[in-house]
Amino acid sequence: MNSYDVAVIGSGPGGYVAAIRCSQLGMKTALIEKYSTLGGTCLNVGCIPSKALLSSSHHYEEATKHFEDHGIEIPGEIKVNLTKMISRKQAVVDQTTGGIDFLMKKNNIDVYEGLGSFKDATHIKIEGKDAGEIEAKNIIIATGSKPSNLPFIELDKERIITSTEALKLKEIPKHMIIIGGGVIGLELGQVYRRLGAEVTVVEYMDRILPTMDAGLSKELNKVFKKAKCKMMMSHKVQSVERKGDEVIVKAENKKGEIVEFKGDYCLVSVGRRPYTEGLNAEAAGVKINDRGQVEVNEHLQTSTSNIYAIGDCVRGAMLAHKAEEEGVFVAETLAGQKPHIDYNLIPGVVYTWPEVAAVGKTEEELKEAGTEYKVGQFPFRALGRARASGDIDGFVKILADKSTDEVLGVHMIGARCADLIAEAVTAMEFRASAEDISRYSHAHPTFAEAVKEAALAATDDRALHI
Ligand code: FAD
Ligand code: NAD
Repeated sequence: MNSYDVAVIGSGPGGYVAAIRCSQLGMKTALIEKYSTLGGTCLNVGCIPSKALLSSSHHYEEATKHFEDHGIEIPGEIKVNLTKMISRKQAVVDQTTGGIDFLMKKNNIDVYEGLGSFKDATHIKIEGKDAGEIEAKNIIIATGSKPSNLPFIELDKERIITSTEALKLKEIPKHMIIIGGGVIGLELGQVYRRLGAEVTVVEYMDRILPTMDAGLSKELNKVFKKAKCKMMMSHKVQSVERKGDEVIVKAENKKGEIVEFKGDYCLVSVGRRPYTEGLNAEAAGVKINDRGQVEVNEHLQTSTSNIYAIGDCVRGAMLAHKAEEEGVFVAETLAGQKPHIDYNLIPGVVYTWPEVAAVGKTEEELKEAGTEYKVGQFPFRALGRARASGDIDGFVKILADKSTDEVLGVHMIGARCADLIAEAVTAMEFRASAEDISRYSHAHPTFAEAVKEAALAATDDRALHI
């Protein structure tokens, strides 16, 4: 039987990064993955394929709607070849997952393909291609998550689908009804809207992206409405039924009336749930809580001291970079180091266009906590760079402590915000004040100047260009 210092179960961004860091720190490491490709949800059916389709559909929208503004004329009709778009996406996925195979070899990590389950706290049974048993002093559970569903919905995975199927459709829907105006619903909704589908978003709460700053929800809602998406807020879905090629969704509105939507596809995107099925956690004494999460303490240690858990299967945001940070955290803890994660500074990004990005506290959270704060906001339309490229929607908003000027939250919507948020994270990691940000130089002309201007606006209302 092969013995290891560490065995990692699950090869998503949590698991494979944990394995690399363990190996870098001199531990003999094994990685167990039930699928034949590494990379988990993120690389196979999550972050990477969704961004590939967002990019392709964005190019199409630029070509059909915006090239003309730039004086670019394309003779003849511009068409979408969905088969080609989807196969390009798959090629991007294959290249990316292949890259993880390379990284595992480079770091001398033994990869086992098969379902891993606990025999006890130090032994893992593997069922599948590399069937057998391994022993490990320490084990990291990184088994990720799966799409959630509503109890009354039968997912047929043809017309009533999750994000996994939405990433490989064979036709452009005529009318896609999306249940849930969260990250997945909006990203994939925008993909199919751009490709020509009618899109209806049915959301239970009174706004899209209900956990983000309300200012961002409002601005993105405007963008979706401008694109002629139907945005049905405060609608509680009651039933979803398929009749032939038609899908009928019924929802109750605020007045208690039943509203009916008819389409040809229904995307169910109401969140994800931790995945621990088949793991036999009980055999190792690992406690799963009533939300289905592996229970962990502040060291990400489970109820069994040599077993740790990270990523989507534990509490906290279900984000790839959060999973990665936790993978590094556990590896360094096992090596006797004292790592740290500030969960308040894990940024959240929605890759629609304009992009939405945030870090730190929202206005709603500051109000609820009774924190006195000031706001500095700057619109992209006032920037030369934004006008030059024609991406003028959105703003940067900085929330700073009223008395100390420390930045407490940064919320932005606009072109390239997914990358701009890194500046805000850095500033907040170093506990910068709004004035600090306003005093360092930002290259001109860039979108980043909006961050400086918002910081100036928060510092005694002294933005320069508005
Ligand atoms: P996962 O990536 O889910 O990996 C878990 C792995 O464990 C899987 O490969 C699974 O097969 C394997 N496994 C499970 N049980 C066993 C077992 N018993 N034995 C062996 N193997 C097992 N996040 C972002 O930060 N940015 C984005 O842009 C983004 N976009 C997304 C888009 C979509 C459509 C979706 C669905 C998700 C997106 N996410 C995004 C979320 C992101 O994918 C997850 O947060 C991330 O993948 C979690 O990583 P993880 O390592 O915890 O788990
Ligand atoms: P989500 O939690 O972002 O959104 C789910 C939405 O569904 C919420 O707005 C919620 O109010 C709504 N909802 C719940 N029950 C409902 C009901 N009965 N009727 C109508 N609406 C209902 O979840 P998601 O969009 O499915 O994404 C799942 C996870 O994947 C998220 O945690 C997210 O962090 C991650 N993800 C991240 C990215 C990214 O970082 N860009 C992209 C995709 C997914």
